[in-house]
Amino acid sequence: MTALIDRFGRRIEYLRLSVTDRCDLRCAYCIPEGFNGFEEPDDWLNFDEVERLLGLFAQLGLKRVRFTGGEPLLRRNVTELARRVAALPGVEDLSLSTNATQLDKHALALKAAGVTRLNVSLDSLRPERVERINGRPVLDKILTGLEAGRAAGFAPIKINMVAMQENADEIDSIVAYCIEQGFILRLIEVMPMGDTARKMGYINLQPVKERLRQRFGLIDTVFPGGGPARYLATPDRNFTVGFITPISQHFCETCNRVRLTVDGVLHLCLGQEERVEFRPLLRGGADDAEILATIRRAIDLKPERHEFREQPEKLIRFMNMTGG
Ligand code: SAM
Repeated sequence: MTALIDRFGRRIEYLRLSVTDRCDLRCAYCIPEGFNGFEEPDDWLNFDEVERLLGLFAQLGLKRVRFTGGEPLLRRNVTELARRVAALPGVEDLSLSTNATQLDKHALALKAAGVTRLNVSLDSLRPERVERINGRPVLDKILTGLEAGRAAGFAPIKINMVAMQENADEIDSIVAYCIEQGFILRLIEVMPMGDTARKMGYINLQPVKERLRQRFGLIDTVFPGGGPARYLATPDRNFTVGFITPISQHFCETCNRVRLTVDGVLHLCLGQEERVEFRPLLRGGADDAEILATIRRAIDLKPERHEFREQPEKLIRFMNMTGG
């Protein structure tokens, strides 16, 4: 079957699956405190439905899947789902984004299930600041989770730090921490997803990149499978830092991904409204040919780019609803 190529010539081979929209944290840029718009469990795609739909995507060239959320480790039996997705013919890589608060309980099983790579969110190394930004006093749990991830054999682990005014003064110390620990760092510009994220105090990472280049003697590098991030590294390549800059320098022209929500809605762009629902097809007896045709039609809807910079007020969806 021919691959999925959108109207702008981009080959779509990466799907981010939100396995739940629920989370044990309330990160200030993601889910507002008191949010109660969670999807009903009856509407969550079950594992058979996910396996079938992703299997059909894989027939059309899907190669990489990432579990995200919400917090994916909150979905009951997530390792079983990982095992089933990792085993799909055509899927070469299954990764997972997590806040790591429960990683100590799951790391070994995830590795055994076929998860190859982990991204862990860490916005600060100061306990009271973690509590303020992430909404819960969880720094110790995150650090324990990171240790468990490392002990389970995940290497290298990537650390995701959303850069904002509140933690800008910690960027250098998180760089130093990642150098010491052997973690890859990715600095992320806060995206205007919902009111809560818009209030966070956006930081342009371009000057930060130049400052880190000088201070740590970093050089430009290419990181295989690095996705949209632009990377700098130490000359010995022992440390790498990526910059995900959707606002200051967008990377839509190379976007190869789509996002599937827990209730089976395919979003074609994180920052736009184009979407297609698959749950009615999966539950309504659609045959494979019909679903394959719908996937192709959906990819044709993928917009050229987001407008986070031009229209920051546009999106009322919070990040946990689409899956980060
Ligand atoms: N709970 C998991 C985690 O912590 O990685 C997975 C979901 S989370 C939504 C995925 C990533 O999106 C995290 O690194 C988080 O920091 C990031 N994120 C959430 N809201 C964001 C926003 N408004 N702008 C930029 N990144 C955001």
